[in-house]
Amino acid sequence: MADVLYVVGHKNPDTDSVCSAIAFAYLWNEWRKSGVLAKMKMPDLEAKPVVQGEPNAETKFVLEKFGFSVPEKMTDGAGKKVALVDHSDIAQTVDNYAQAEIVAVVDHHKIGDVTTPNPICFVNFPVGCSATVIKYLYDTTGVAIPKEIAGLMLSAILSDTVIFKSATTTPMDKEAGEALAKIAGVEDITKFGIEVKSKLSDVSGMSVRDIIMRDYKDYNMSGKKVGAGQIEVIDLSLIEPRKEEIYQELVKMKQEGGYHSIVFMLTDIMKEGTELLVVTDEPAIIEKAFGKKLEGKSMWLDGVMSRKKQVIPPLEKAFAGQ
Ligand code: MG
Ligand code: MG
Ligand code: MG
Repeated sequence: MADVLYVVGHKNPDTDSVCSAIAFAYLWNEWRKSGVLAKMKMPDLEAKPVVQGEPNAETKFVLEKFGFSVPEKMTDGAGKKVALVDHSDIAQTVDNYAQAEIVAVVDHHKIGDVTTPNPICFVNFPVGCSATVIKYLYDTTGVAIPKEIAGLMLSAILSDTVIFKSATTTPMDKEAGEALAKIAGVEDITKFGIEVKSKLSDVSGMSVRDIIMRDYKDYNMSGKKVGAGQIEVIDLSLIEPRKEEIYQELVKMKQEGGYHSIVFMLTDIMKEGTELLVVTDEPAIIEKAFGKKLEGKSMWLDGVMSRKKQVIPPLEKAFAGQ
């Protein structure tokens, strides 16, 4: 029996990090059978997808839809061989990262701070989704994508690119998505995308803290602590009844966490824009970042859907006084 290669996405898993772990583990095992691993002198390991935490409702829907169970949980990397998908940051990876052996990284973000003593399989493209990178790896190594895995990869792409509407979307994501939809037997991609994205739109049963923390990150901007969260909904009216409650919670979090500012994106997928809730010591910095005045507690940002591309960079600039 070969040793196990644990293929794992980031903490607080999203659909891409779970589905890409499954898709890359399958690909790795095909590489093993067909001699690709040997040819590239990559270690002869049996890949197994794992998750670092409970998948969200969207991911669970997708797994069930294509006949997969939730991968086993694995949070401690000590003494294990791991392949990272959808991240390369120590803060987002397995615990005891220093005692793990990183064998591969497949990602679509900025390069993080993980490092290895030896050369490894490291593939990163600036595309909208890790599954798009993995599709490229299947194609270039001549591995056929099974129907069910194609469904997972398509779902990951639709999730990460917000049905190809996010500014992070590239033509390669669209091409990959269309090809995967054919394999998966998904006829109406947009309709399926809305079905996938709507699974996280229902916040009625969630606590306000859970709504905020589901997709929330801390940043250091020129020495100031800034928090930025996001919720993407099919229609903002779904979140309207909870808006005031969310705002009050942000005020509380700001005090408790010693933040300079917290921004929270209420993103309307269909309208393709974001209502940005803002709590801050200096409204002028936030207003400068987006070139708009705050109207009460928020501002509407037309066409803004990506935190990574459209919210963090202008904020960082404004905080740097540029
Ligand atoms: Mg992700
Ligand atoms: Mg991703
Ligand atoms: Mg995301």
